[in-house]
Amino acid sequence: MSSYHVSIKGIVQGVGFRPYVYTLASKYHINGQVWNTAGGVEIQVSGEDDAVHKFLEELQLHPPVLARIDQFKSSAIEKIFPSGFTILQSESTSGDFMPISPDIAICEDCRQELFDPQDRRYRYPFINCTNCGPRLTIITGIPYDRPNTTMAEFELCPDCLAEYSNPADRRFHAQPIACPVCGPRLSFSLNGRTTYDGNEALKMARLALADGNIIAIKGLGGFHIACDAKNITAVETLIQRKRRSEKPLALMANDETVISKYCAITNAETELLKSHQHPIVLLRKNQNCTLPEILALNQNHLGFMLPYTPLHCLLLEKAEGYPEVLVMTSGNISEEPIAYEDDEAIKRLTPLVDGFLTNNRPIHTRVDDSVIRVFDGHPYHIRRSRGYAPQPISLPVDVPQIIACGAELKNTFALSREKYAFISHHIGDLENYETFRSYESSILHFQRLFRIKPELIAADLHPDYLSSTYASNRAEKENLPLLKVQHHHAHLASCLADNHWDSKENTIGIVLDGTGYGLDGSIWGGEFLFGNYSGFSRVFHLQQVPLPGGDASIRQPAKIGISYLLTSGIELENDLPPAAHFSKTELDLLSNQISTKINSPATTSMGRLFDAVSSIIGLRQTVSYEAQAAIELENSCDSLEQGAYSFEIVNNEITTRTMIKEIVEDWRKKVNKGIISAKFHNTIARMCLDVCQEIQKQSSVTSVALSGGVWQNITLLNKTKPLLERNGFKVLIHQQVPSNDGGISLGQIMVASTFTRD
Ligand code: ZN
Ligand code: ZN
Ligand code: FE
Repeated sequence: MSSYHVSIKGIVQGVGFRPYVYTLASKYHINGQVWNTAGGVEIQVSGEDDAVHKFLEELQLHPPVLARIDQFKSSAIEKIFPSGFTILQSESTSGDFMPISPDIAICEDCRQELFDPQDRRYRYPFINCTNCGPRLTIITGIPYDRPNTTMAEFELCPDCLAEYSNPADRRFHAQPIACPVCGPRLSFSLNGRTTYDGNEALKMARLALADGNIIAIKGLGGFHIACDAKNITAVETLIQRKRRSEKPLALMANDETVISKYCAITNAETELLKSHQHPIVLLRKNQNCTLPEILALNQNHLGFMLPYTPLHCLLLEKAEGYPEVLVMTSGNISEEPIAYEDDEAIKRLTPLVDGFLTNNRPIHTRVDDSVIRVFDGHPYHIRRSRGYAPQPISLPVDVPQIIACGAELKNTFALSREKYAFISHHIGDLENYETFRSYESSILHFQRLFRIKPELIAADLHPDYLSSTYASNRAEKENLPLLKVQHHHAHLASCLADNHWDSKENTIGIVLDGTGYGLDGSIWGGEFLFGNYSGFSRVFHLQQVPLPGGDASIRQPAKIGISYLLTSGIELENDLPPAAHFSKTELDLLSNQISTKINSPATTSMGRLFDAVSSIIGLRQTVSYEAQAAIELENSCDSLEQGAYSFEIVNNEITTRTMIKEIVEDWRKKVNKGIISAKFHNTIARMCLDVCQEIQKQSSVTSVALSGGVWQNITLLNKTKPLLERNGFKVLIHQQVPSNDGGISLGQIMVASTFTRD
């Protein structure tokens, strides 16, 4: 006989861990008990030596699919359990904490029950089990138990209670458990008139969608706005109502066979589409794709996802004449956050939609869909949110409890303790008041969930970021040290942490970005840094140009085009698209503003160089969403072109004068835009190599980290990474967080932690 006590930490609650332990114990005929604590799961067992060892081995090697074991400690004990295996009541120890599972897409078992006429949850849109369903979106507190979720108000019926209490059941302690008798219900209204309930609501919503209506649909983390993706009138109306934003619209199809009619899908992409997370995956459009162009204007990719809730499965269910692809864009107007509360959604979305398909399960935390691209067969994040947050990132070192407030656009914040960084869901652009409010409340919510008592607050160096103001207010009020982290240093640290970089060795950070506040008060963004978590030096950077009108010019690439032309000594002739975009008077004013540098801060931003080139070759003079000019420049790229333009490295500056001159020459020779775009991309890749080799001459460093928003450009990544590798560099790219400002909070944690460690 032998007896053991096992302590397990990691994601072990809300993932069917205890029933799994129970079943495993029965399999090996061993006795004992299992219970949850606020810090993890505890198990005590006794039985035949061999059986106990096999039990422990299997538990460690094959935990439940959604679980993640970060720590597994077992020790021999004296106690003998004479008979049976029991699941004890949860025990809460103050100060302990544990990771919380993200929301999980509907599992295969639940999907089968959903379409099984014999099942008591047949066609019930809120079916879930311990292996799937809502988590972060419904959790109001800890420990993760039903009273601490938005399901608290739904009292379990006897059937559900029996499943909930049976350790052998797939729904044992499934907190969001529900059925048609006791759980949430659908309701649907069209044009503010009749309201339908339950299955009738679903039927009428489908009819309305098939009829070309635009419907707001309450999902897992908020409202989507849906319409038939093939109905051009419906799509055009939707775009018009969304204030004519040209931002690509996300799509949902019933299965990957439908998607493959419109896009090429690799195995890695299929796997990602069908993963527990079910993110939006950006897929290459087929040549003969028959979906309307306006779904993703001037892009050769479409963002597709598969149904991830039972409601989506029912909504997309195939039927004769029914739309096989739905637009499923977030329920908001341009920069506002996604709507998630019923009253608020009805108020805000009524002008946008013809009907509402909603339900009475409250959403506690609004969470947007995640967006991912596949690079080199691996996921490459664009927006890390639903399905991923708040899954902790494992850090290479132990860190203190820190709140990192993130950046301004595409904000995420992060909390840390021990070896974990809890990165929030996508918060969005803090300039929007609603978004900022949700930022503040989410930070407090996360602090409670993970029991964080901050020892330090980290924020961006930018004096005007709302996140920085929030940080200094809190630091002052709570008498906490505040550490300001330079934006591009945070990008570098983020990429290193993302690759579990645990050495004090220096690296090269190629941080190519839109905007970041520099140590000298100017706007940085084309930066070659040398350093690590604890510090950096700015060894090379892009040449400075004036940014007429400051940050506002981001919406007008034409102004940046003009600035680059003038800086490169090129006359503003009318054959050049940015010059032709303005009237003579406007052009004079602008030239004057640029030469006198009035309200024209200097920038080394690589994002702005992309804007300028996009403008100079006539692709984009104004944009309706962030980075549109650069994205369209990337999408126009000719994949076969190998040529490049010239640039010079003078002292620690990379000059762009000759590059811009050669681009103008090509434009005047009527060289195809795709060729110019390709040559420009090739130039930036070679610039990266040349500068790295230059740095290498002075130090023997071989590791290069690529971070910053510009690295969302897969075409550039595809050209740069192999080029550096062929020349002996080890290239680190982002793995679990985006290279854009969504990854800043992780970097801030790492930089801040070095200040408390020594
Ligand atoms: Zn399930
Ligand atoms: Zn029930
Ligand atoms: Fe940035």
